[in-house]
Amino acid sequence: MPRKIAYGANAASEFQYPENSLVITTTTPDIYEKWLNYMGIKKYEIYDKVTPDPAIETIEEIKRKYEGKQISAYIGLGGGSSMDVCKYLGKLTGIPKILIPTTFGTGAEMTTYAVVSFDHKKKLLQDEAFLADAAIVDPYFLPGTPFNIMRNSACDALAQASEGYDSKLGNPFTKLFCKEAFDILDNAIMNDKHDLLPYGAMLSGIGFGNSSTTLGHALSYVFSNEGVPHGYSLSSCTTVAHKFNKSAYYERFKKTCQKLKFERLTLKQSLDEAADVIMPDRGHLDNNPIEVTKQDIVNCLDEIVNKNPLQ
Ligand SMILES: [Zn+2]
Repeated sequence: MPRKIAYGANAASEFQYPENSLVITTTTPDIYEKWLNYMGIKKYEIYDKVTPDPAIETIEEIKRKYEGKQISAYIGLGGGSSMDVCKYLGKLTGIPKILIPTTFGTGAEMTTYAVVSFDHKKKLLQDEAFLADAAIVDPYFLPGTPFNIMRNSACDALAQASEGYDSKLGNPFTKLFCKEAFDILDNAIMNDKHDLLPYGAMLSGIGFGNSSTTLGHALSYVFSNEGVPHGYSLSSCTTVAHKFNKSAYYERFKKTCQKLKFERLTLKQSLDEAADVIMPDRGHLDNNPIEVTKQDIVNCLDEIVNKNPLQ
């Protein structure tokens, strides 16, 4: 876990930010300006050209651009992508990183994982050096979150908590966090108590961050490579994966996705091609509770795109 975790109302406004920090964000000026105001941060640089699923080239460009500028800390403000960029940069330069999620779903502020694209393919990396020096989770702006962003984030957090629970790397400690996270997120969605989502997502990050996600996430990346948002692709992928794994979370996960009204997924490439992309993803597949063959992957993809798993 990060050395310092600041959670709750005013956590982001009360935090003391070091001078000459570099704020790295995926958000647009209308969003990050209200955050920066709220945070009360002074004397900072900002880099706002990070796009979802950041490429290694973007990270190297930022490193070059700010070399010699005595940056004291990176502040990752936004969704998973801005935090992933900070994590990778922090590993390259040794500069401390402060992570502040604005969408509350990935739990990325808590984990040693980063997703970076190499040659237009998303790759899941894990390194102790990716761990945040401080994570700040403040739900202040949650009420203004558009429904579509909220539901994608919530679905990601739910998928992470339940896949993390089932992961082969799980242990009583990670299961405790994953189970609690799932219960909180499930309650938040089914009973429209959205103010509980940030806490659930944070606990999910601690749980799956110390085990791993599994088949559902492995299946989802071929859809994200075709431009489908991460949380949306997990709605069907994790449902089908839970069914395949006979997960205790299958029914409950599916019900929350139905409540969030996720539509069916489509895939441009053939199922066979997609399965060839998924099979080398050992980081997810080796931790799946059941062994997965290429034919299993093709069957899962067939169920995702040709049948309606959320019906
Ligand atoms: Zn995820």
